[in-house]
Amino acid sequence: MANPIVAIVGRPNVGKSTLFNRVAGERISIVEDTPGVTRDRIYAHGEWLGKHFSLIDTGGIEMSDQPLSTQIREQAEVAIDEADVIVMVVDVRSGVTDADEQVAQILYRSDKPVVLAVNKVDNPERRSDVYDFYSLGLGEPYPVSSVHGVGVGDLLDAVIKNFPENAANEEDDTIHFSLIGRPNVGKSSIVNAMLGEDRVIVSNIAGTTRDAIDTHFKADGREFTMVDTAGIKKKGKLYENTERYALMRSMRAIDGSDVVLVVLNAEEGIRELDKHIAGYAHEAGKGIIIVVNKWDTIPDRDQRTMTDFTNLIRQEFQYLSYAPIIFVSAKTRQRLIKLPKMIEEVYDHCRRRIQSSVLNDVIMDAIAANPTPSTNGRRLRVYYATQVAIEPPTFVIFVNDPDLMHFSYARYLENQIRQAFDFSGTPIHLIKRKRK
Ligand code: GDP
Ligand code: GDP
Repeated sequence: MANPIVAIVGRPNVGKSTLFNRVAGERISIVEDTPGVTRDRIYAHGEWLGKHFSLIDTGGIEMSDQPLSTQIREQAEVAIDEADVIVMVVDVRSGVTDADEQVAQILYRSDKPVVLAVNKVDNPERRSDVYDFYSLGLGEPYPVSSVHGVGVGDLLDAVIKNFPENAANEEDDTIHFSLIGRPNVGKSSIVNAMLGEDRVIVSNIAGTTRDAIDTHFKADGREFTMVDTAGIKKKGKLYENTERYALMRSMRAIDGSDVVLVVLNAEEGIRELDKHIAGYAHEAGKGIIIVVNKWDTIPDRDQRTMTDFTNLIRQEFQYLSYAPIIFVSAKTRQRLIKLPKMIEEVYDHCRRRIQSSVLNDVIMDAIAANPTPSTNGRRLRVYYATQVAIEPPTFVIFVNDPDLMHFSYARYLENQIRQAFDFSGTPIHLIKRKRK
């Protein structure tokens, strides 16, 4: 399940994010209308010669109130902690700087393979300057021009040569879920409570990196895998409390999950970063449960406080209207016992398949109740619908002209499908296609 992780490190302005975008390429696609999702990524998928990997730009993990040297050191440590292979980037124009040496020394002491990229080698005359970088003690320097895409292939050849042998983990059919959320919302408290005495912990599976450890357990007769348990429990380093690091960790956990628990803190309400994190889970098409933790801290809580909070969530996370909400307390364990069952239900909804005949009955009834719209005298015709995928459930609707099916009518059909079949917790995708 887990792909190898490649982290990009280096002092500011050497071209880390340019290289990151180059390697991630078109795979960076962000649904524009998901609120809270910014375009600047620090985590993405890469692929080279059929090998898939996750890519982290540690330069995006800023600790703004820290001196530069601390930031550079922390970023190098993130790379060492997270990655299977590290790409250190330097700038051919400036030669070897003190900051480069500082980074190299930290990497040198770790046992992670490092590939050295000498960036901004935009023309052949620069090539002779590349040899100076042998002095960093990190082996052969690879000349690249991230802006022009030159040399990146050779660099990636060197990167994938260093992937661990066991990189392709065998798939298992347990329910993979993760807890994501801002620092201090109570993720590790929930993990501890969920993995408490009454659960049989089957095993801890070491992933491709030291720190990505998944925990297997059984509950209600089903087998679960809690993704990246160690990452949740790990605490203490400076960068672990930064928002960008929380975001990066979340994206990684989302990647490996079927169902994602988005944890909110009732005491603090909803923050911008909550929306960011939830936006990524939505975009990834995963099953989602919204878990409001620290419910014990709300004074005089009753049905009304719960309804108010629910309304607030629905308003702030409009694109997550399908996600169930549960109010819990890791401290008092209130309602935690319900979580495995909920995860299981959402998982089953994510994998639900609807027979075409039944689906088409629903679609035709929907059209009868609310006829298709016309644009400029041309009426939308819907011929046939069929489910083509699960996780998330994806439906293709064949029509006379896809442009005639506006967002609002697609939304209407989605709602009718949701009313007919229980898809709570999972996004569903509708693809409109012209019938040939
Ligand atoms: P980061 O701070 O290490 O992430 O660096 P950026 O990716 O933001 O790049 C810093 C500057 O270097 C930007 O102005 C880039 O356009 C420029 N840059 C990045 N790669 C190259 C390259 O291959 N050639 C040249 N000439 N400029 C580059
Ligand atoms: P994480 O960073 O999301 O993993 O958060 P932690 O699990 O480390 O919790 C952060 C703080 O919130 C700790 O001091 C916990 O004791 C506290 N906390 C966690 N869950 C609850 C809860 O349900 N109620 C209360 N009152 N405090 C909680």
